[in-house]
Amino acid sequence: MEELRLLYLYPDMLELYGDYGNIQVLKYRCAQRDIKLNVEQYVVGDNAPNFNDYDIVFAGGGADNEQSILSEDLLKYKNEIKESVEKGTFYLLICGAYQLFGKYYKGVEGNIIPGLEVFDYYTEAAPDRSKRCIGNIVTKVKLDDKETEVIGFENHGGQTFNVDTPFGEVLYGNGNKFQDSEEGYFRKNVIATYLHGPLLSKNPKVADYIIKYCLERKNNNKVELKELDDTLEENCRKQLLDNFLKNKKISI
Ligand code: GLN
Repeated sequence: MEELRLLYLYPDMLELYGDYGNIQVLKYRCAQRDIKLNVEQYVVGDNAPNFNDYDIVFAGGGADNEQSILSEDLLKYKNEIKESVEKGTFYLLICGAYQLFGKYYKGVEGNIIPGLEVFDYYTEAAPDRSKRCIGNIVTKVKLDDKETEVIGFENHGGQTFNVDTPFGEVLYGNGNKFQDSEEGYFRKNVIATYLHGPLLSKNPKVADYIIKYCLERKNNNKVELKELDDTLEENCRKQLLDNFLKNKKISI
């Protein structure tokens, strides 16, 4: 049986919005293809993980306070993480984790939380804490040269600037900033996004992109994933897309 290894960073602190569901979706879609997804967790105080040992590194969203607390620990692994990104480990980063991989995150209190500086973007929370990007969001992304709508839910005060390669074009919702045309950050082995939902539960094609990438990198050959019956997922997506894309109101 094929196996993939996933490292789940700070499950006790970056898990405010149910992003663990992304791991459950990956596990399910792997198991349906006789692929075993082995999940290991890392929390503050654990032995240093070897980031290069993993196919996927995942981290979810969290409040400013938790981001501030774990930032010092995360920065210990700055070089190892940068190296593993360059070597091709897949990083799935949601919201708060997305922010911490940039230059810095300036929290709603005005405090600067240093980022890993793996990527050149930076994030600053709106000074008015009542101003948050909250609501459903739909973006258009291109994965393996195929366009698809990606559906999620955003809840962030942080406004992210200087993104050179966004994950998607905003069709409904805010994105990296209030009423932005772009959302997230993308490289072939990095999806960093504000989309909760969890992201992969509403977007099976994104989950399959990650699985396919990891298998091709691990085995150094092209992979055609077995098609799964996504009737339920696609019916739900159609309902959501009909609803959101007909009412292009953006809530701030
Ligand atoms: N605390 C960060 C913000 O408010 C991230 C929030 C999140 O992870 N959803 O922007």
